[in-house]
Amino acid sequence: MSAITMRELTKVYPGGVRALDALDLEIADGEFFALLGPSGCGKTTLLRTIAGLEVASGGSVRIGERDVTNLPPGKRDVAMVFQDYALFPHMTVRDNIAYPLRIKKVDRRSRGSKAADTAEELGLSGLLERRPGQLSGGQQQRVALARAMACHPQVFLLDEPLSNLDARLRLEARTFLKRLQRELGVTTVFVTHDQAEALALADRIAVMEGGRIRQVGTPTEVFRRPANTFVAGFIGSTPMNLVDARVHGDELAVGSARLPLPDDAHGQVTDGERLVYGIRPEYLDYSPTTVTGALTGEVVVVENLGSVSLVSLDVPADDTGADGSGTERTSVQVVVAEGAEPEPGDTGWVVPRPGRA
Ligand code: ATP
Repeated sequence: MSAITMRELTKVYPGGVRALDALDLEIADGEFFALLGPSGCGKTTLLRTIAGLEVASGGSVRIGERDVTNLPPGKRDVAMVFQDYALFPHMTVRDNIAYPLRIKKVDRRSRGSKAADTAEELGLSGLLERRPGQLSGGQQQRVALARAMACHPQVFLLDEPLSNLDARLRLEARTFLKRLQRELGVTTVFVTHDQAEALALADRIAVMEGGRIRQVGTPTEVFRRPANTFVAGFIGSTPMNLVDARVHGDELAVGSARLPLPDDAHGQVTDGERLVYGIRPEYLDYSPTTVTGALTGEVVVVENLGSVSLVSLDVPADDTGADGSGTERTSVQVVVAEGAEPEPGDTGWVVPRPGRA
């Protein structure tokens, strides 16, 4: 078993930066797990603390049944792949892959054959005698993965594994990495600030902010059911619409609009309560003609995203004027199919799809 369990894990750097703040997290055995969050939120520090490259200031890290909090990196049975791959430029691919085996004092013959086997699994057999400088970015990444795999560690730690590849190679490497992880079934934690990458690759994601975890869930959970407005605003290629609303019987009032109360809010809210209503631009339907009770406003921007457009409307959001004449306004974005785009200056209505708010 190689589940990873962190309890009240804290890291304070010299100078007082609290990079991890009493963080609790459990990563299951065999899971492909992403650490996601904005720059400086503590992702890399968490990865390095699991690896033993940073010493925790408080709390604990367990791998399986073992408390590894005070063990050096070499005793933790983890392998880390760095962002820049950290290959030895003067060594061949074969020697790079075999290097950790040499450190583990595996004899020369088994080293050679294990390195060749791992290289074969990663499609590197033809490149064993080359040096890193003679490889493409994608091939270098595979060598780094092969070096990490050669020792059959309990845990893989990957720091922004795809960030050095260009856009096309990155997609290819993403598919490759997902397949490889599935085949090996090794508990794998990877750091990324790219939410599309986290959603595409991970079994589960932890969204971090300021050294803490704001939500842990499957890609579907964090996308569909963000636990708070931070996660709602961070996940998704276009940010979720977040609109101030007031409970009005079994509806929500936003300006003069009346929206259906989301199913899971029934019984959770009281009449008159103020709350934030969140819905993704993909889950709103745009209408150029009047829809009674719908959010309505002037189209201010139309952005072409290829097969769809992102339309921004300026919507009254102040419910003191029941006719929508209040002074507070908010921007609402809606995805509109090709050919159905309005023009700036048009008046439009937007209707939430059921079960999506
Ligand atoms: P990025 O996506 O930019 O790599 P990150 O989420 O990985 O960011 P960390 O690198 O873990 O964030 O940094 C977390 C916080 O700790 C930041 O405020 C950073 O400035 C600080 N920090 C990181 N390393 C050190 C260090 N060696 N000494 C002091 N402060 C540090």
